[in-house]
Amino acid sequence: MASISSIQARWILDSRGFPTVYCEVELEVQGRKVKGYASVPSGASTGKHEALELRDGGEAFTGKGVSKAVYHVNEGISAVLTGREFRTASQVDEALLLLDRTPNKSELGANAILAVSMAAHRAFAELAGLELWQYLRRLYFAALPNQTHFPKLMCNVLNGGAHASNGLSIQEFMIIPDTGEIADDIQVASEIYHTLKKSLATDNYSTALGDEGGFAPTLATKENLSATELALDYLLAAVKEAGYSEQTSLGLDVAASEFYDNASDRYSLDGKQLTQKELVDVYTRLSTRYPITTLEDGFGEDDMEGWKALTEELGEKIKLIGDDLFVTNPERFKNIGLAKQIGNGVLIKLNQIGSVLETCQIINLAKENNYVTAVSHRSGETTDDFIADLAFASQSEYLKLGAPARGERVVKYNRLLAIKSSLL
Ligand code: PGA
Ligand code: ZN
Repeated sequence: MASISSIQARWILDSRGFPTVYCEVELEVQGRKVKGYASVPSGASTGKHEALELRDGGEAFTGKGVSKAVYHVNEGISAVLTGREFRTASQVDEALLLLDRTPNKSELGANAILAVSMAAHRAFAELAGLELWQYLRRLYFAALPNQTHFPKLMCNVLNGGAHASNGLSIQEFMIIPDTGEIADDIQVASEIYHTLKKSLATDNYSTALGDEGGFAPTLATKENLSATELALDYLLAAVKEAGYSEQTSLGLDVAASEFYDNASDRYSLDGKQLTQKELVDVYTRLSTRYPITTLEDGFGEDDMEGWKALTEELGEKIKLIGDDLFVTNPERFKNIGLAKQIGNGVLIKLNQIGSVLETCQIINLAKENNYVTAVSHRSGETTDDFIADLAFASQSEYLKLGAPARGERVVKYNRLLAIKSSLL
């Protein structure tokens, strides 16, 4: 048993220069004190069904201040939990979940609750003398075989959609190295990234970066190639030139909710207005032409018909991962994924649901039902590397972590290297 001796939050800036919640939780056992810390990420192409990220509104920080969420930690949550005794971090989460009885954590804010939850997990790991991943595994994933597989990395090297202002409809173009060795995978990602940079520069494209550290060129469409195909051609050429065709596949996060028009019931991709059937055909064609192994959010978050058609067409061939579709919510996953047999993979974002406990529950639920899990960062990140430990602890198939560049992204890559070397 440890008692919580203090919980303190404050705002810090994230990678987009907006405030986010930082929190420290201190535990005490027989006079010994340990601290855990955490900071919360933030999305741009946020799913409509996500837990609520509480922002202040008003003028300051263009409405994106988090002083209300910080206040909820320092006054509300802290007042209730400080001095109470807990055996595990999951018990802290259970107590946190009782404090906000709304279905989407809109009372306290998912950013307030998650900051405390993550910091509490770090503090309990510290108290047990364990690495975070060891503690998470012991607490939530003890039933899994005790393996040391590293997740395959989904490295977003070309940014579009809501993460760039280059007119690319598709949000993320990812390379997925798979050498069987995490350090080699990271090397492959880095080399392809730099090869891509060189080839874009040679063709007089901008090598400025999007929100997730990938390049964000405004690609001119050529002959009858769409901007999407041109982007994939650049990726494939960089993979080939770097010498890693055998070990590397491609992934897309379409984030289709962003270009779905409700009124016309059409998807506006590369300047064309597509029906569901036409969009399935586009994906089928792309997956024949390019070595695509994962496709995330190929249809809108409420478009069950589109998702169903896509699953029937490509579900055997590639991983169809639900992000805005499932929003890391066990109930949505059960009611949509399992009940309607939609998709075969679940994207896992801590702040979509708002607690570590619930995040780990949906990972286990997905695994029990043979869905792959892809632990993911957000486009707005901090230098918190919690997701690297979570992906490794849960033996998730994938970790989506942006480009191998920029501090808030590389900290996750580098954490994997640290875990790897601690195992040797
Ligand atoms: P977001 O994007 O963090 O802006 O939501 C990431 C994603 O869609 O996977
Ligand atoms: Zn996504």
